[in-house]
Amino acid sequence: MSESKLGDMDAASFRAAGQKVLDWTADYLQEGERYPVLSRVEPGWIRSSLPAAAPERGESMGAILRDFERVLVPGLTHWNQPGFLAYFASSGSGPGVLAEFLTAALNQQAMLWRTSPAATELEEVVLSWLRQLLGLPDAFEGVIYDGGSASNFHALAAAIAHAVPDAGTRGLIGRSDVPPLRVYASEQAHSSIDKAVMLLGMGRQSLVKVPVDDQFRMRPAALASAIAADRRAGCRPVAVVATVGTTSTSSIDPVNAIAPICEGEGVWLHVDAAYGGAAAIVPDYASIFDGVGRADSVSVNPHKWLFTPLDLSAFYCRRFGAFRHAFALTPAYLQTDQPPDVRNLMDTGISLGRRFRALKLWMVMRYFGAAGLRARISNHLELAKRFAAWVDHDPDFERLAPVPLSVVCFRAVPRARELDAGALDQLNSRLLARVNASGEVLLSHTRLNGHYTLRMAIGHIRTEEAHVRRAWQIIRAALSGLCQ
Ligand code: PLP
Repeated sequence: MSESKLGDMDAASFRAAGQKVLDWTADYLQEGERYPVLSRVEPGWIRSSLPAAAPERGESMGAILRDFERVLVPGLTHWNQPGFLAYFASSGSGPGVLAEFLTAALNQQAMLWRTSPAATELEEVVLSWLRQLLGLPDAFEGVIYDGGSASNFHALAAAIAHAVPDAGTRGLIGRSDVPPLRVYASEQAHSSIDKAVMLLGMGRQSLVKVPVDDQFRMRPAALASAIAADRRAGCRPVAVVATVGTTSTSSIDPVNAIAPICEGEGVWLHVDAAYGGAAAIVPDYASIFDGVGRADSVSVNPHKWLFTPLDLSAFYCRRFGAFRHAFALTPAYLQTDQPPDVRNLMDTGISLGRRFRALKLWMVMRYFGAAGLRARISNHLELAKRFAAWVDHDPDFERLAPVPLSVVCFRAVPRARELDAGALDQLNSRLLARVNASGEVLLSHTRLNGHYTLRMAIGHIRTEEAHVRRAWQIIRAALSGLCQ
């Protein structure tokens, strides 16, 4: 690092360090399997391995990169490994990683159209491409957020603004003319819905958890009864959140039956398809979006299952004018003289500054093409079916939920051992720990009908049948070890 000059790193140093970073990344993406999927460091190890204060003098990129490998890489859980079968995967695909590099280099701040015409308009273009692949009607316009939680939050904020048009000026607190508001989502909906109602000042008591059927899908009749009971009690239902691909089991709420209830009640319908939406681009699975075109808003996260690196959630709304109205607020210093139909992204959410996220989705969609995306997702769907069949045919295991998409929920129930419910939970929790300690695969868990449940979610771009087969071998061997 040169201390004699002001300004940035010079071009030659940038090129040399950039080459090293590129080479390291190419090797990492190619040979990532040499690292354990789940980081093995102890809490605090990273912190204690690094100096407590910033260096007074600048250091060379060589020294910085050496510490990156020595200290930080061991503290990574490798989401980019094919053995990553936990939570919902996120793929740092080649074109996605390259796009992120360019995004950082360009450092666009797309708050206004004029501060980045390309980022603003590419977002519209690429979201229109995705909308068509998802089979959503033209009336849906899109905007990109960092994640599904942000999409859900904005959906509910828009629903409130729609139901109480002067909420933006007069607020909701202490108003005798606004009855208590209610939001409905199934017992299996993602916790970001609970967070959204908390942050929107409605309190978690305003969220009604609608019971599910034996396949973990919202029961429309229970929804209708809950809405009717709330109306009788003087509450105002404002939004229903249906989920296509719930977090625990990937169950699919019957949107076709939920949409007419929302229409009849004049309630905003948001469909959270953060994970499951990607499967709707596969013709055999397009029916998972039946009725979704009737929703007011829909969210799909390409950073989960469309091979786009974190972070990118696509949010669509059928009432985009009303949606913009909910969020638009222009101080004098941000006024521009563009015509009113020119979109300024700052009018579509809480953040003012916005990254050029559309670039990575554009590069991913162009590089793989719609056919390539469909083929990869179909393959994951097929692998999940195959894994589910292995579980079903093994008498020492049982499946705990249907497999509508690429998540398999199961547990061990060893024949040789008579175990009560608590002991079975403990055994399965120890089984998961053993499997994950292998370093080759990472699974996660949930709780279904009170049972500790192992959960395999297939969605990484590099996951092939061999990885799923290997995971099954490791699981079975770990169970044998525990039962000895
Ligand atoms: N919705 C569903 C159904 C999810 O499964 C998740 C995360 O797993 C989210 C929303 C939140 O998404 P994000 O992590 O992008 O905020």
